[in-house]
Amino acid sequence: TSEATLIDGAAVAAGLHSELRSAVENLVERGLTPGLAVVLVGNDPASSVYVRNKIRRSVEAGLRSFHHELPSTTSETDLLSLIDRLNSAHDVDGILVQLPLPSHIDAQKVTAAIDPAKDVDGFHPMNVGKLSLGGGALVPCTPLGCMLLIKGVRSQLAGLNAVIVGRSNIVGKPLAQLLLRENCTVTVAHSRTEDLPSLCRRADILVAAVGQPELIRGDWIKPGAIVIDVGINRAEHEGRQKLIGDVDFAGARAVAGALTPVPGGVGPMTIACLLRNTIDAACRRHGVSSPI
Ligand code: NDP
Repeated sequence: TSEATLIDGAAVAAGLHSELRSAVENLVERGLTPGLAVVLVGNDPASSVYVRNKIRRSVEAGLRSFHHELPSTTSETDLLSLIDRLNSAHDVDGILVQLPLPSHIDAQKVTAAIDPAKDVDGFHPMNVGKLSLGGGALVPCTPLGCMLLIKGVRSQLAGLNAVIVGRSNIVGKPLAQLLLRENCTVTVAHSRTEDLPSLCRRADILVAAVGQPELIRGDWIKPGAIVIDVGINRAEHEGRQKLIGDVDFAGARAVAGALTPVPGGVGPMTIACLLRNTIDAACRRHGVSSPI
């Protein structure tokens, strides 16, 4: 038996970043510098790291970056009025409010307050609806990143059985729409699914977006399948923090056809897709043809 091909998300994302940089240069020459506003409420350590990376990457790509760090005690009203200001700010093309928000703030209300044309996370009900209807949506970044990786392995997906484990609004559900659009036969599994191993064994494309370390075992995988591991689980290993996925990597590697590692798989793609969405949003808002 041969080992699965590693899907090098970090390398694909690096390629994407350099394309995005040239796209931004091209837009700047035409008088448009896309701007991304990132809002962080509170000091959740993982969120702070994500936000820092998003800002660093957007600056590297040549975007205009606006950064709002608010204390965890910020009221919902104050956050909503900041979003109002960002909605009407001419030089802001994308607005990202880092989730999770503190529990006294209604995240759904905040998401719905963002101008759908600036909703680069793709979480606004308007974009969710458009994605489901089939066109014109800003698409959530992690599912978009997963699709780019899957299509990098195989460009024609029609008729393949895709199984997504996890039904969150951020990953599982939007990814189901994207795979359906590619004419896959899509099954979405969750915590109440019966006999998950047999279901997974039928998958030509298996995506794990669960948040349970190494839940998916090697013997749940169909030989030759494309396996995408979205999971990011933090574990202690010999006194150091280590990231592990939702898939038993060593077990899967012996069976799958292609497999993403954690870290270095889906993670780096998420930020690249965020920048892509920002460029997209800027072009649409200004009626400029997109260079990407
Ligand atoms: P959520 O917690 O919102 O959703 C998890 C899903 O997994 C739920 O649908 C849940 O089912 C299902 N689930 C939980 N346990 C089981 C089980 N034992 N068997 C089958 N299904 C189960 O998570 P997210 O979608 O937000 O994130 C999933 C993972 O992806 C996390 O590890 C997260 O850190 C990571 N992630 C990574 C990103 C990246 O950039 N790489 C971006 C976003 C997330 P139910 O609905 O029934 O509760």
